Amino acid sequence: MPQGNEPLINELRERSAGSAYTPELDTRAQPVEALLPEALLRRTPLQLPEVSEPGLVRHYTRLSQRNFCVDANFYPLGSCTMKYNPRVSEKLARLRGFQLVHPYQSEETVQGVLQILHEAERCLAAVTGMDAVSLQPAAGAHGELTGILLIAAYHRDRNENRRKVLIPDSAHGTNPASCALCGYEVETIRSNSHGQIDLDQLRAKLDSSVAALMVTNPNTLGIFEERIVEIADAVHKAGAQLYMDGANLNALVGIARPGDFGVDVVHLNLHKTFATPHGSGGPGAGPVAVKAHLEQYLPVPIVRAEGSRYVLDYDLPKSVGKVRCFYGNCPVILRAYVYLRLLGWEGLRTAAENAVLNANYLLSKVRQLGLPYEGPRLHEFVLSLESLRPFGVKAYDVAKRLLDLGFHPPTMNFPLIVKEALMIEPTETESKATLDAFAEALLRVVEEARTSPDLLKTAPHHLPVRRLDEVKAARALRLRW
Ligand SMILES: *Cc1c(COP(=O)(O)O)cnc(C)c1O
Repeated sequence: MPQGNEPLINELRERSAGSAYTPELDTRAQPVEALLPEALLRRTPLQLPEVSEPGLVRHYTRLSQRNFCVDANFYPLGSCTMKYNPRVSEKLARLRGFQLVHPYQSEETVQGVLQILHEAERCLAAVTGMDAVSLQPAAGAHGELTGILLIAAYHRDRNENRRKVLIPDSAHGTNPASCALCGYEVETIRSNSHGQIDLDQLRAKLDSSVAALMVTNPNTLGIFEERIVEIADAVHKAGAQLYMDGANLNALVGIARPGDFGVDVVHLNLHKTFATPHGSGGPGAGPVAVKAHLEQYLPVPIVRAEGSRYVLDYDLPKSVGKVRCFYGNCPVILRAYVYLRLLGWEGLRTAAENAVLNANYLLSKVRQLGLPYEGPRLHEFVLSLESLRPFGVKAYDVAKRLLDLGFHPPTMNFPLIVKEALMIEPTETESKATLDAFAEALLRVVEEARTSPDLLKTAPHHLPVRRLDEVKAARALRLRW
C-alpha cells in the first residue's frame, strides 16, 4: 500500500514537456473572447492541474490502492458477506446492449431486459419459497422499509390498527430504524442463553397491537432460530405478520427457504448473497419477496409475462406506490441473475454449505479467544474480546492492528448484546490458506495485546493514515478543498 500523503490533483504541479496525446487547444479560429460576454471573462488564470497523462494515471492508481477491497484483501466484515464478485457477471453487465439501455425507452425496445428482470424475480421467488417479488428497493434497509410498508398496507386494508413491531435484541440496527420510519413503535425481545428468541417472552408480548415480528435468520450471532416454525405460528395466531431480514441468506440459500418456515415478507441483499459489488454504500439491490396475500400491495411496476412478451404492470390499485424511480438497479439485478443462472440450485447449495464450513473452520481456530452463547454457528460468528480489558485493549484496537497485517477488520461492537464484539464472516470464496493466515494474524494480535498493548493502541502503523479522530471526522465535516 502506498505510503505518505498523496496531494490533490489540483496541487500537482508537474513541469513536463507536455503529452503527445493531448495537443494544445487551438482557439485561433474562434477566440473564446469572441464567444463570451465581456463580463463573464475570467481575469485571473484558472488553477488547473498541471500534470502529464502518465502522472495523472499514476495519481489515480495510487489513490485506488490506498484502501482495502475484496479484490486485494481478505475482508471478513461480519454481516456484510464480502464475497468475491465473479468477473463473468461484470463482463456481461458491460455488454453494449445492457450498458446503453435507458429506462425511458418503450417496452418493445427493452424486451430482453424485461425478460431478465422477470426471470430474476422468478429465481428469487423460487430461492426464498415466496410467491411474488419486487426488485425496486436499492439496498437492504430500503427493502426493510418497503416490506414494513407492505405490512402496514395489509393491516390498514383489514381495518386493523396495529402500532408495534417486535424486534429481537440481536437485530441489525437498520431493523428498528426502518420500523420507526414507517411510524411504528419498536419493542425489543430479549435473546435467551442460546442467543435465540425467547419464545415465552414473545408469546407474552403478542397481542392485537402488534403488526409484525421482524427477525433476522440466521441472526446476527450467526445462529439459526431453531424454533422459527413455532415462532411463525405464534405470530400468525396473534394476527401479526412475520418479517424476515434475509440479508444473511448466504447461510441458507439452496438449503432452507423462508417461505417454507412461515415468513410473510423477506428482503434479500443481492450485494451480499448474490455476489454483486457493494460499492461504498451503493449501488446495491434489496428486493422484497412476499407471500400471495401481500402481492397486491407491492410497489409498481411489476414485470409480467404476457405470452411471449413482457410488459410493465402499473395497475395495482392497492400498491404502496413507488419506492424508487423506474424498476430497480438493473445492472445489479443483471449481475445477480448471472450468478443465479451460473450456480443453479446445486451451486447455490454448495456455496451456502461452504460458507458455513469456512466460518466453522475459522471458528475452530480462534474460539479460545472467547465465544459467547452455545450452539452451532452458521455462516458467521461473534467473538467477545472482553478478556483483553485488563490490558486496556478494546476490540477496536485489535481491528486497527489487523489492518497493519493486511486484513480488513471484522465488524466491531455489533451485535450490541456482546461486549467487545468482533463479528467474523469469511464467506465461501476464501481458501483454507487465507483462513489459516487470518487465524494466525488474529492470534498474534491478541498475544501482542497481552505483551505490548501500546502497539495495538497506537495502530495502525503501516498505512497511509494513522489512527483517525472518528468523532471529529463526523462532527466537523470539511468537505471543501
Ligand atoms: C447488511 C444488512 C442490512 C442492511 O443492508 P444495506 O444494503 O446495507 O442497507 C440489514 N440487515 C442485515 C442483517 C444486514 O447484514
